[in-house]
Formats: sequence, C-alpha cells, structure tokens
Amino acid sequence: LDRKKIRNFSIVAHVDHGKSTLADRLLEITGVIKPSNENAQVLDQLQVEKERGITVKAVTASLNYTYNNESYLLNLIDTPGHVDFSNEVVRSVTACQGVVLLVDANEGIQAQTVAVHSLAKRNNLTIIPTLNKVDLPRADPDKVKSQLNSLFNIDPNLVLSVSAKKGWGVKELLEAIITRIPPPDVDPNAHFKAHIIDTWHDKYRGVLCLAYIHAGSVEIGQAVKWQSSTKQHAVKYLAMLRPTEEPINKAIAGQVVMVGLGPKGGGSVGDHLLSVEVQENTQSSPLQAIKHMVYAGIFPADQSQHVFLSDAIKKLALNDSAVSVNVDSSPALGQGWRVGFLGLLHLDVFTQRLLQEHKAEAILTAPSVPYKIKLKGAKIIKQYKSDEIIITNPLQLPEPQHIEEYYEPLVIGTIITPVEYIGAVTTLCMDRRGVPLPSKALDDQMTLMQFVLPLSEVVIDFHDTLKSITSGFASFDYQDHGFHASALVRLDILLNGTLVEELSSIVHTSRLQYSARRLTEKLKEMIPRQMVQIAIQAVASGKVYARETIKAYRKDVTAKLYGGDVTRRKKLLKQQAEGKKKMRSIANIKVPRDTFIDVLKR
Ligand code: GDP
Ligand code: MG
Repeated sequence: LDRKKIRNFSIVAHVDHGKSTLADRLLEITGVIKPSNENAQVLDQLQVEKERGITVKAVTASLNYTYNNESYLLNLIDTPGHVDFSNEVVRSVTACQGVVLLVDANEGIQAQTVAVHSLAKRNNLTIIPTLNKVDLPRADPDKVKSQLNSLFNIDPNLVLSVSAKKGWGVKELLEAIITRIPPPDVDPNAHFKAHIIDTWHDKYRGVLCLAYIHAGSVEIGQAVKWQSSTKQHAVKYLAMLRPTEEPINKAIAGQVVMVGLGPKGGGSVGDHLLSVEVQENTQSSPLQAIKHMVYAGIFPADQSQHVFLSDAIKKLALNDSAVSVNVDSSPALGQGWRVGFLGLLHLDVFTQRLLQEHKAEAILTAPSVPYKIKLKGAKIIKQYKSDEIIITNPLQLPEPQHIEEYYEPLVIGTIITPVEYIGAVTTLCMDRRGVPLPSKALDDQMTLMQFVLPLSEVVIDFHDTLKSITSGFASFDYQDHGFHASALVRLDILLNGTLVEELSSIVHTSRLQYSARRLTEKLKEMIPRQMVQIAIQAVASGKVYARETIKAYRKDVTAKLYGGDVTRRKKLLKQQAEGKKKMRSIANIKVPRDTFIDVLKR
C-alpha cells in the first residue's frame, strides 16, 4: 500500500440532505455491500440512529476502488449532521484531506450547510461541492449552483450532481474524490504516531480505538505507548473497518484503522498512540475543547441501581466523548451525576442509548445552560479560589449579596429562510432576546439571517418553534459567542413551603414574571391531585412572583366500577401501583418524575 493511493474524506451536509444514502451507494459501488433495500443506511448502526433517522456517531468505512487501472483505498468517514453533534464532525475532519459538501438540489443551501462549509474551510480541506436528489422533479440544480457561488464563491463548473437514491453520478463523484482530494501528507518511514478520533467499548477486547495514523506504521504485537503515559503496551487488535472489521497485520501512515491494546490497554479520544522510540512531545491534539451547552442531573430510578447506572454511564461516556460527567446528589432523587451535553438532542440521544444499549433507566432533571458569576467580597473569592466561577446547576449560585455580575452564554444563530417568513423569524428572535446582525440574500427567495441570541433561549425549543412558524422551511444552526454580562436571577419553586431544588432555574429579570406564572401553571397541570392541598409558589429574591393551588382530592380509580369484574379491578389497581412507582415524594407530595424533565421546557 502506497500512501499516495489513500484518500481520506468525509461527507458533510445539512440533516436529511442524503449523507447516509450516499454512503450506502459508495459502499455498494465499491463492493462492500450488495445492492438491496435491506442494507438501508449501513453506517447508521445504533438503534437510536435507525429510529430517529439521524446519524449520531461518526463511523468509518474503508473502500477499495480502481481508477485508471490503479487501486485506491478510500476511507469514508460518515458524520452526523445535527448541530448537537458538531464535535463528532470536528473530530472526523481531523483525519480528512477533503469533504464532499452535499446539498439537496431541491432545498438548496441550509443553515448547517453554512456551518460545515466554514468548518471545511477552517481546516483547509478540499471541498467537492455536490448536489444530491437531482432525480426529484422539483430539483433546481442551476439555482443551487448560483447559491453556492454567491455565498461560498464556488465555481458552478466544479459542482457535481448526483442522485444518491438512484445511484446517478456516483462513479463521477468517486473519480473527483481521487483526482481532487490530495493524499494524506504523512511520512510512512518516521516513528509511529496515531491520533485517536473515536473509541468504543467491547465486552471481551476492552477499549477499541479508531485511529488516524499520521506517521510511520504499526503492526500486530508492536510495542506502543500513550502520549499521556510511559507504560508500554503491545498492539493486540488491528483492523480495517469495511465497515465490519477486517483484521490486518500492518497499517501505514495515512490510514484510518481500528486499534486495540487489550482489556487493560485503555485509549481515549484526542490522545496519541506512539511508537516506544518516540521521545519528544508530539504536537498537541488539533481538537477543539468541547463546550457543553446544556447540563442536566441524571439519577437512577431507584438507588439500588446506582452501581449499574454508574457502569452504564461510564461505558457510554467512553463512546461519546462529548459528554462531561460529574458526581451530583439531590435530596429528592438521591446520588446521581451532573452531565454536560452539546444540546438537547444530544441529551435525548444519550438517555435513549443508556436505555437501549445498556438497559439502564434514568431520571433526568430539567436542563440548564452554564452561567459565569463574578464574585465580590474577599472572603468569598478566597473560598472559591477565584473571583469568577462557572455554574452548571442553579443551586450552585452563591447568595445574591456575593455576586458582582452575572454572565450568560450567547450564540450567533444562523437562519436560512424563505423571504416571506423574515417577519415571523425576526419576531421569534426578538422574543428570545435576540439582537439582529446583517442579513444576506441567497437569491430572490431565500435569505440568510443572523442573530446574537442567549443560549438559554435557544436550547429549549427554539428549533421546533422556528420550524413551525416557517412551515418547516427555515433551518437553523448556532455557534458559540462566549459569555456576556446579563441581568439574571434565580427562580425557585416551593411546594407547600418546601424548596424543590430540582426545579430551580436561572432567568432573565425581564422574564421573571412570565416564567414564574408559566412554571406554576404547568406544575398545577402536571402534579396530580392528592390527599392534601398543595400550594405551588415561584419565588425569587424572597418575593413570590406566582402562586397556584391544587385542591385536595381522594383518588379512587376503582370507584367507577360496579364491583363485579374482579380481574378488571385488579388490573386497574396494578396500573395505579405502577403509576405510583413513577412518582417522587417531596414534603409528602407525590410529584411525577416526568415533571423534572418536562416542566422547564417551553
Ligand atoms: P442524512 O440525514 O443526510 O443522512 O440523509 P439520509 O441519507 O438519511 O436521507 C434523507 C432522506 O432523503 C431519506 O428519506 C432518503 O431516502 C432521501 N434521499 C437521499 N438521497 C436521495 C436522492 O438522491 N433522491 C431522492 N429522491 N431522495 C433521496
Ligand atoms: Mg444520516
């Protein structure tokens, strides 16, 4: 194998523009899978991906392709499209020299197209602009080519057209990948160095890593070490992913392969695997630090499952390096974890994977974004060891008199919308405390709008609202814009005078009255009537901003049955007992667990 015959590339696109379908076609044409409908979306291996039709994990596939009588090794890295998983995209591009920028010829450029294009530019990758779905009767390739030209300055003559569904133009695309994307610029004769871009756990073989070899070569049995430690290991497993494992004895610089060092060998994303001869410090990982956008508490449904859940979270966190996990405890929910996510979808997918892949059921508290606090008072600053702290849970807020300034995270939101919705989009963004930036017309129908928005207004429900006010035609993506000073306050919920810690939130003062009323009204709906009257209060800085009362009620679900049918009666009682299990008790009030997840959503 010659490094000049290697091409490492990724397909990037807005969600639903056809990455997975195109990946399937590439796998077929290179003989990896047989053409058939049953093979639909081979790279989407996780159950959650199949169900949701989204790609969560970046998966690689090594393909052989013969062009001009020369045999090439094409390493395709399929990437997720959703904003929440952009760190998976970022990781996969570190191993690539080029990307196929896929754009739906019917929909045109969407918000994530803009995001992935700028990511490819920043990483100096060769971009192969490709229109997909040209089989659709409403596809308008010329119009999308002119959008690509006006927004990204792309020469329309360089734009390819394919139908991933029908397999049209896929051969031409493979040729463009070979002729336009350069081979990896690496030295196969240097000492071995590889960069870990993904890890997963195997029951019997321990941690398995997806590694991009950027110098030298590696063989089964070779002595290696992690950059982060001096301990030596022997390479135990080596395979190409096609996408199923194909064991190999040796791999060279430029390849993307699976490496395993055995059950005690370890391995983590971003680390470097080195030949034992390497002495000098390798350059630091090109990966950007992960910014967690959303935090939530995760607790076992029952404390007896704590160890089991802990194990499941550890294993999943290994495969999903984007999460941060810290120990947390809650008076109502017991011992658990505070987990940081990239966004709400990431949070949903994480808990779904816990359940599906690890059979672990968890309770989640309402999500919140991180805040920065500037402290005042020498004693307090000394206690915290700094005059600035990051709060990932509203309960960590110091007393108001110790707070000099609150800061909240802002993002720059990019929205691409048909012109007729500009007014509605502007109203939505202003409602969410947005500040408009200059907009740009893509053509006479579509406009790119940008706003500076508080992250807290974006992570909860923004995307769904945008979709509904624009009949699904607008798309959205955001990028981090750092912390900015803001007028914030902590809003607490009391049930019969008892603080429910899990329901505290941090809100903007302009929203205090509104949030207080909305929260109490929603809680009134969600908490069932009980034997005692329940007073729900929303309190900030010692003042009650809203109050609701749930009248006492004796619940007897069997009352409406006339005694006769014993089996039905038993069934109902059993259902009621199961319903009770799903409750948490706070000051003798039973609160459905779902409340902790749902109430702070809009
Ligand atoms: P991804 O989110 O980018 O991975 O997109 P998928 O590959 O899952 O495709 C999204 C939808 O578009 C699916 O329903 C595909 O069947 C459909 N699709 C993908 N490529 C084509 C194409 O070339 N033509 C048509 N008509 N539909 C396509
Ligand atoms: Mg997909």
